[in-house]
Amino acid sequence: MTSNSTGPAKLYLMQLSATTVPLPNKTTMEMVMVCYLIVTGDGKRILIDSGMYPETMPPGLPPARDKKTVLEHLAELQIAPKDVDTVICTHFDVDHAGYHDAFRYAEFVVQREHYERARSGDPRYAAARAHWDHPSLRYRMLDGDTELAPGVTLIETSGHAPGHQSVLVRLPKTGAVLLVIDAVVLARLFTPERKAWPKDHNEEQLRASTRKLMEMVEREKVALTVFGHDGEQWKTLRTSPEFYD
Ligand SMILES: [Zn+2]
Repeated sequence: MTSNSTGPAKLYLMQLSATTVPLPNKTTMEMVMVCYLIVTGDGKRILIDSGMYPETMPPGLPPARDKKTVLEHLAELQIAPKDVDTVICTHFDVDHAGYHDAFRYAEFVVQREHYERARSGDPRYAAARAHWDHPSLRYRMLDGDTELAPGVTLIETSGHAPGHQSVLVRLPKTGAVLLVIDAVVLARLFTPERKAWPKDHNEEQLRASTRKLMEMVEREKVALTVFGHDGEQWKTLRTSPEFYD
């Protein structure tokens, strides 16, 4: 709980699209693309990721439904891109960084390890590079866990990608909300002995980060853990324009 007027007052969960992905065993998986917005008590807007540009959708996936870009979500809340103060970059995969260059007035916050790897030309981050590496964007580098603002903590969770970060948000009524992002994409993967998926960079780090997040849920008495792409979970969540406070 926080009574600090500069701390988070509202957390918006923005669903950008949904896809039913066929799995090899003839079942399917509900996958969502998402981003998040924190509004603080003193009116600051902190965006977490910016979603995917439509033409960068990976080939081979079925068409996405319920599409709504981050800009459309913000417009619904009467927020213009220039009114976003900070963009937290969890990582530069194409589904997380596609609209970064729309936020020219914001400060971008990223783990140094991730930024340096992506800028050095790792092909994984090429698809959205024009958006996250636009010359007009201002970046601040972080080295490890960082309290970004009162009640907003960035947690280094490498594994899915080097220098990936998750976000802990302390809300006045809801309590602590943990946005694990792609450190854990589905609720059923939130176990210490999980296996890496093809897109994950390092299985050992992925497990270490998963354990770190599990310990954090206990220690910080997390009221809600939100998984990065879990369409089944997202059906149960309050999504923008509704919010958690
Ligand atoms: Zn992702």
